[in-house]
Amino acid sequence: MKSGSRRKRYVRTPGGITRVRYSEFKDGTPRCGICGSYLSGITLSSKGVIRTSKSEKSVERPYGGSICHRCLETLIKLSVRA
Ligand SMILES: [Zn+2]
Repeated sequence: MKSGSRRKRYVRTPGGITRVRYSEFKDGTPRCGICGSYLSGITLSSKGVIRTSKSEKSVERPYGGSICHRCLETLIKLSVRA
């Protein structure tokens, strides 16, 4: 099924033709903006982004919900030392 919300996968068929397979849905898990690791403390529920509460989407910390705690620690250290 063709859909923009599904992940595209290029598969070479036995006839030698490359076809597009639409496999699973795209992973919407939030990741860190610097290192790219998955953000902990954020639960993805099936309710949708609008109906989930703010505490489920973010962490009570500066840059919580966008940068992980390890990257924030290094950023704070760099800003203090500079
Ligand atoms: Zn990070």
